[in-house]
Amino acid sequence: MSAKKPDLKIVLCSPRGFCAGVVRAIDTVERALTIYGAPVYVRHEIVHNKYVVDSLKTKGAIFVEELSEIPDETNAPVVFSAHGVPKSVPAEAKSRNFFSLDATCPLVTKVHREAAIHFKRGREILLIGHSHHPEVVGTLGQLPEGAVTLIETAEDAKTFMPKDPDNLAFVTQTTLSIDDTAEIVALLKERFPNVNGPHKEDICYATTNRQLAVKKVAPVVDALIVVARRTRRTRSACARSPSARAAPLRSLPSAPATSTGRGSKASGASASPRALRRRK
Ligand code: SF4
Repeated sequence: MSAKKPDLKIVLCSPRGFCAGVVRAIDTVERALTIYGAPVYVRHEIVHNKYVVDSLKTKGAIFVEELSEIPDETNAPVVFSAHGVPKSVPAEAKSRNFFSLDATCPLVTKVHREAAIHFKRGREILLIGHSHHPEVVGTLGQLPEGAVTLIETAEDAKTFMPKDPDNLAFVTQTTLSIDDTAEIVALLKERFPNVNGPHKEDICYATTNRQLAVKKVAPVVDALIVVARRTRRTRSACARSPSARAAPLRSLPSAPATSTGRGSKASGASASPRALRRRK
């Protein structure tokens, strides 16, 4: 006969689940479907969440990676995702007479504005972030090519050679690991004491609060499950805690056995309440 498993106590991290920017973006698509009817085109996944994307598809949303996939003759609205888009995208939408709705998170727009102000003041701009992330692509695309240099790692910060060390500025992606970013910012400030930047990094409150919740809970549980999409770096940032385990939802045991019976669940800002409820 198998030994009885200890009762499992689940500690839910707070905050968890959708951030305000994600809720706003989903609402934009849903309201567009209600007001204008299907189809509604959405450039890039509105948020990195398969459940949300699949549910919107069933209601009539059509997801595309580029505007070139949308037929010229459509009158349907085109929604830009919460991550923001390069300036070339609204320009193309305008030139093709598309009716566009911008669901860019205001906190991403704030970073775009900061970069634009630094550029106007003639500063060389560094963007701390991950290449190919849609938000980074959008921020780089706010300014002419070559105006912004991407700094992805501490090594990049150590080796970057500015044109003028006294005329530098930095902005950051909103969804980074707070610890990794702090290290990169510290390196830049050490090398270039006159570098301009935000008072804190641009990492948004939703990302920061979720990572702080993980840090607080991790030491008092035996296992920590981060609910997020496999490709999300945000999830990785949360999952860096020694107690954290990030796995596809379906592969998790229904009740992870732990030595003291204490487990915890956290999530990235794109995880839906539905995903968090599953596998309790
Ligand atoms: S994670 Fe932050 S920046 Fe991104 S949509 Fe949510 S609130 Fe906005």
